[in-house]
Amino acid sequence: MMKQYIEEAEAALLHTYNRYQVVLDKGDGVYLYDIEGKKYLDFASGIGVFALGYHNEMYNDALKGQIDKLIHTSNYYYNIPAIEAAQKLKKASGMDRIFFTNSGAEAVEGALKAARKYAYLKDGCKDHEIIAMEHSFHGRTFGALSVTGNPHYREAFEPMIGNVRFAELNDFDSVLAQVTDKTCAIILETVQGEGGIYPATEDFLKKVRALCDERDILLILDEIQCGMGRTGTMFAWQRYGVKPDIMATAKALGCGIPVGAFAMTERVGSRSLTSGDHGTTYGGNPLACAAVSRVFDLFESERILENVDQVGEYLGTCLEKLVEEYTFIEAARGVGLMRGLACSVLVGGIINRALEKGLILINAGTQVIRFIPPLIISRQNVDEMMGILRECLDEVEI
Ligand SMILES: *Cc1c(COP(=O)(O)O)cnc(C)c1O
Repeated sequence: MMKQYIEEAEAALLHTYNRYQVVLDKGDGVYLYDIEGKKYLDFASGIGVFALGYHNEMYNDALKGQIDKLIHTSNYYYNIPAIEAAQKLKKASGMDRIFFTNSGAEAVEGALKAARKYAYLKDGCKDHEIIAMEHSFHGRTFGALSVTGNPHYREAFEPMIGNVRFAELNDFDSVLAQVTDKTCAIILETVQGEGGIYPATEDFLKKVRALCDERDILLILDEIQCGMGRTGTMFAWQRYGVKPDIMATAKALGCGIPVGAFAMTERVGSRSLTSGDHGTTYGGNPLACAAVSRVFDLFESERILENVDQVGEYLGTCLEKLVEEYTFIEAARGVGLMRGLACSVLVGGIINRALEKGLILINAGTQVIRFIPPLIISRQNVDEMMGILRECLDEVEI
């Protein structure tokens, strides 16, 4: 049955993904089921999206209620879910102005536009520069791709937006070397996700923040993957005592409904994008914002951050042990429930074997196994995952 659907999919969809050979049907908590009824423990949560787990009734009810009321209005009018969602995101982030988008890439686009406009209003010049990090990932649209530090993703689509310079994460001198009088923004992921799970160090972030303050450069933090509780604080930067001028969020913001946002301080909000500068038809529509609003409520009532702290630390300890046990595992990295195992072998085979054994994992690059489970997982789920993972690791031939 599955094979036939996969053939149909390959006949109809553009071939931009090498998909795993499974057709998923439904989910419950931290488990997914394929159309043949096979059960999978999910340690990928749809790439860090489904933080609250599958089939959370209170989340589903918020959507069902909104569907029957009003799904879409456009941004020419006000709607209550958008007001509430914006207020809750403001409170959780300490940022002042919110713009809702439909995806992470669009949130990055908006952040870049805001930064350029801020600089333009200061000096009227049209040649401002942005500093981004090597090995970063910010999305697939042209603006987001232009600041993505992976030449493979960019090459065939050149020219990019231009005036982007790259530095190394956690190497402050490499950032300094790229700063010019034209620099308007520095963009980075507080914890690099796709690039292999590399957290920014506190020292690096503080130095970049100080540099930005000194030169009136805007610090843009991409919290699309590492934000929304994934590292144990609502946003990863909150752990470091630095605050961005602009922040991008998405993925777990809507826990499954396509929605993102960029948020900024009042200082940037009052001196950048204004009426007519930016827009979106769907962004912040009542259905998406009903999801966002309920997500924030559930993060509090289900004590998600506490769970991430506790289970995240346990997961970290378990993964550390593997570094000692297996010669081909080089390092365990990450924070909270955003972790990676760096290997000296390609990890595709391990991930495929895990899938056969009922465990969903994903990679971050070709040599890192990534662990980004729903944020509701328990220690027992970690133990279950470790059992299957060990079986797969034992089968690795080196
Ligand atoms: C996923 C991701 C994006 C892009 O988000 P989309 O919703 O896929 O456009 C951008 N930045 C980071 C850090 C991401 O993980």
